[in-house]
Amino acid sequence: MKDAPIKTLPSCDDDYDPASLTCEEALQRLLDAVTPLAGHERVHLRGALDRVLAEPVIARFDVPAHTNSAMDGYAIASADLPAAGSHGELRVVGASFAGKPYRAPLARGEAVRIMTGAVVPDGADTILIQEKVEEREGRIRFDGGHRRGQHVRAAGEDMQAGTAAFEPGRRLSAADIGVIASLGVPEVAVMRRPRVAFFSTGDELRSLGEPLGLGEIYDSNRYTLFGMLTQLGVDLIDLGVVTDDPEQLEAAFKRAARDADVVITSGGVSVGEADYTKEILGRLGEVRFWKVAMKPGRPLAFGHIDGAWFFGLPGNPVSVMVTFYEFVRPALEKLMGTTPRLPWTMPARVTQPLKKRPGRVEFQRGHLTRDGDGHAVVTPTGDQGSGILSSMSQANCFIVLPLDTAGVDAGAIVDVQPFEGLL
Ligand code: AMP
Ligand code: MG
Repeated sequence: MKDAPIKTLPSCDDDYDPASLTCEEALQRLLDAVTPLAGHERVHLRGALDRVLAEPVIARFDVPAHTNSAMDGYAIASADLPAAGSHGELRVVGASFAGKPYRAPLARGEAVRIMTGAVVPDGADTILIQEKVEEREGRIRFDGGHRRGQHVRAAGEDMQAGTAAFEPGRRLSAADIGVIASLGVPEVAVMRRPRVAFFSTGDELRSLGEPLGLGEIYDSNRYTLFGMLTQLGVDLIDLGVVTDDPEQLEAAFKRAARDADVVITSGGVSVGEADYTKEILGRLGEVRFWKVAMKPGRPLAFGHIDGAWFFGLPGNPVSVMVTFYEFVRPALEKLMGTTPRLPWTMPARVTQPLKKRPGRVEFQRGHLTRDGDGHAVVTPTGDQGSGILSSMSQANCFIVLPLDTAGVDAGAIVDVQPFEGLL
């Protein structure tokens, strides 16, 4: 008698899965759903670093406010420049220092000693660098070959009065807060920071400080999430570990949704565990369970619980980081009112062959450097299991292998995404 065929279900180990979303589709759905949070606050300039601007910053005056010298030397009128091959001679009538200008207009035949940043006197339009000039007894001599207007910084060349130095949505960098300071602006309006509640789920998880029993592990996801969320600049509500118990889970979801704008969990979205998570979330809000054609990180849940957005990330530690970087961070950035940073991709030559099966985009962990000729080269960081978190510590980029690709030969050019804000 022939054996009846064994019935199987799609599993994590399968590659092609027609029910899966592509990474692009999943990201697009998230970005389509999320809109910027309302509400902003005024903060002192130093507190605005890394915050998202809510109102434009307008330059009230020209920057620089006055035409000034870019070099130490002499301010002269270009009409006094000699023709090439001959030389010029001018009388030094005074000096203009940064913060102590020479106030009289310059007449023909006159030069003013000038320092970097000092106001260029009326009548002068050109600076001779001091090294190119001979000064003796109150006169300077110089040759031809100077250019009219050289070494002068024009008023308003950096920014003009009345224009916006920064538009709303700008995430303020160190350079930005310096620019705002140069405009004399001590305070700015920034978007409210989202409150993000997060917890880990799993009976096997122990918190730091607790002893480990057989088969138990320390909860690391809450630490990587803490790190990634802190770098993103949100307010955190850490709700700890919740066991795989429907009542406890329900209570945790409710509390998180009450206190936060966003709820992020890890674990409990894979086959088997997803069933009761689904049941609870179905009652509390509207959540879709997705399969994304990626590795690691295939299962992902997204929706809302009451008024809070919900991201249910897979439990495997590497999956948490990949799904956060590819999906959660851009969505949170949109929520924060700034343009989502999509991981940027560049080509690099891979130093070793890479194993892969077609059907999913793979995010292998790599270390990106340059070879002796200055070309980008990437080396995979050893074992690529989704539970091997140290691979993320060793890596500085993802090696992104497209859906249909089978293995890759050593020396092939692959796409890498250098980590930005993940390290
Ligand atoms: P799950 O998605 O809940 O089925 O978990 C998948 C794998 O990730 C299992 O090996 C879990 O033990 C592990 N895992 C789940 N949550 C965590 C966590 N917070 N920290 C470390 N490992 C975890
Ligand atoms: Mg679990």
